[in-house]
This record gives sequence, C-alpha cells and structure tokens, in this order.
Amino acid sequence: MTISIGNITEVKGEIVRGEIDLINHPTGAKESLSVIIASGKNDGPTFLLTANIHGDEIVGVIIIHRLLEILDLDQLHGRLVCIPSLNPTGNRRAHRYPQFDLEDPNRKWPDSNPDKKKKEDKSDWLDKYYEEMPTTQESIWKRIFEEFRNISPNYHIDLHTFSNLSIPFVYLDRVIYEKNEDEANKLFERVKGMVNSMGLTVIVENPSKRYVDKKLHRSTSGATLNGLKIPSCTIELGPMNSADPAFRDAGLKAVLNFMDWANMNISTFQPITEAPVIMTKRWHREINSPRAPETGILDIIKEAGDMVSKGDLIAIIRDISGVRIADVKAEEDGFIVGWWNGIAKYKDEIIGMLAVEDKMPMVVKWSEISWDAKKDNN
Ligand SMILES: [Zn+2]
Repeated sequence: MTISIGNITEVKGEIVRGEIDLINHPTGAKESLSVIIASGKNDGPTFLLTANIHGDEIVGVIIIHRLLEILDLDQLHGRLVCIPSLNPTGNRRAHRYPQFDLEDPNRKWPDSNPDKKKKEDKSDWLDKYYEEMPTTQESIWKRIFEEFRNISPNYHIDLHTFSNLSIPFVYLDRVIYEKNEDEANKLFERVKGMVNSMGLTVIVENPSKRYVDKKLHRSTSGATLNGLKIPSCTIELGPMNSADPAFRDAGLKAVLNFMDWANMNISTFQPITEAPVIMTKRWHREINSPRAPETGILDIIKEAGDMVSKGDLIAIIRDISGVRIADVKAEEDGFIVGWWNGIAKYKDEIIGMLAVEDKMPMVVKWSEISWDAKKDNN
C-alpha cells in the first residue's frame, strides 16, 4: 500500500516533502502545513508525528527536523509522516493560538462524543441565528482529520511543551468507547505499551468526566485516540518559546525509543538522562495543586521531579519586601511535575502541578459520562 497526504505520495526508500492546504487569508496570502513522508525500504507501521499546535511550543519542530536527518531509510521498517508545525501562524508570532482563531486549537478536533445535543430555544422564532457554527479552526481540523484517517496511522505522537520548570513527560489519555468494550480494552493496552516504551515519566490525563468537560477528547492525541481509535499520546517537553537542548534531546530519545518498540528498526533503547524520570508502580495523574495560599512572590523549595509527602513544605510565599507570609504545603503524596512560569502569584492561583496516585478507570463508556445531579437544598 502506498499512502498520500496533502499534495504528496509516498516513494519507498525516500523522503518526500509537500504541503497540506491550511487557510486562505483575507488579504490574499495562502497558508499551508508542511508535511513529510519518510518511507523505509522495509514494510512496517505508519507513524504520524506532529508538533507545534500551540504556537509557542516549538521544540518539537526541531525534534522532527533532527529525526528526519538521522533516519536510515535502508534500515527503517514502515513510514514516518511528519507535520512539524500544526500552527504556523502561531509559530511566527510566538503565540499559543493561531492568528485566525484565538482559542485553543488543541480542543477543536472533531468531537467523538455520540451525544451531540443541540441547544435550542423553540419558543424563539429567531433562535437559528444563535446556533453554534464551526469556527475557522474547527472546519480546518475536520478536513485535516480526514487526511489522518486516510493514511490510517498505526500510531500518533503530538509534541508539546509545558513550563520552564518541569520534567519531560508523556500524557496517557483515557479511552472512551461507544459500544465495543473489548476493542476499547485492546486499544488501551496498545496505548499503554506505547507510552511505557519511551523511557519518560507517564502522567495520566484527567478522569473521563473532567477529560470530556475540558474537551481533551478533542485534543490532537485525544481525537486520534478516541476518534480514529489509534494509539496516540502527547509528550510534554519543558520550556515554552525555546528549543531547550536537554528537552530536545530527551524528546528525540523518547520518540526513537517508541519507534524501536514499534519494530521500526531504528535504534536500541536509550535511557533519558537529561532530566528526572519518575517510575511509579501505580498510575499517577495531575491535579490542580498546589495553589498560592496568599498573594505574593513565589520561591520554590521542591523542584520538578522531587517526590513529596502530604504536608511537606514545597514553596514559600513572601511579600515583595521579603516578609514571609505563607508556606505552600503538599496537599497529597506524589511528585512535582512542574511549576508554572513566573513568581508573581495571586491567592488561589494554580502555581504548579502535582502528580498523585490515580484510581479512576482508564477505559470508560460514553453513556457513563454524565454529571451527577447536584442536590439543591435551597
Ligand atoms: Zn501544548
């Protein structure tokens, strides 16, 4: 089988470069996504690798460039399909969002939720004018998602960055299914194998209700996993707005480790030595903690990758004159994934990310995802 995407068709044993139409700007210029097919001489899986959907998360672009340079196509099994920048207008402006749609593009891939109730006010004869229309980005992703479906990748990885003070890690998404539980469990086993192959810390995404509420099933990896039903994950690689060499190297190793596991015959396992890796016996997930107990200036005590116990002092808040006004304590046992950028923090603001043991189901049926009715005692 030979695959095509955008304006290119694969040539076995070669790297072919081309474009996928993105958007025509109102001022006349055309924008496209760069797409590359690197096809090995030997049969094997199709691996889709994307980066830079958040315009200020750029290290993945360099990882893809370096990966393409080191590939030995005579030895490679299967093919690599790369889109180095899913958000070129954001990249140029060092901005998270695209120029033409100022919302998170990583929540706008097609919605796999089978329950798409329209909000309708039948008493208003003009109600159709309030109907939600797809945004520019949603229309674009709908079209490009079909390109993804067309090449039917066996695996997908989306490269992101997290914060200046964070460990590199891979997100494991929840699998949400409509009917076939057996197929969903198999998909989860494959995605679990995939994330465990990289040598990175694994962090489990939000439990299913929060996951859907935050539209994480419409992220790039969430949509390919739960929409296209292919093993897919997001790798988070440290600082925004920079291609930090340590995180670049850690990310490249993680991708190569995965390709090795996927029998693409690329290299042998290389441990991640550029940053801490936390290996836990049980799944750990992110929580919205710690938060600033007072408004002031944050000084961290525990660093990204440090294990903490409930009650440990992990940071201090001082006022601008240096008077200590609050201690930040760990609210649960776990480890520090990272601290958000900056030191000026307001009371109750989330200031970092703590990973704690997760006990919520990893494979969930769509029909089970509804919020418990709130008891209203008024
Ligand atoms: Zn991101």
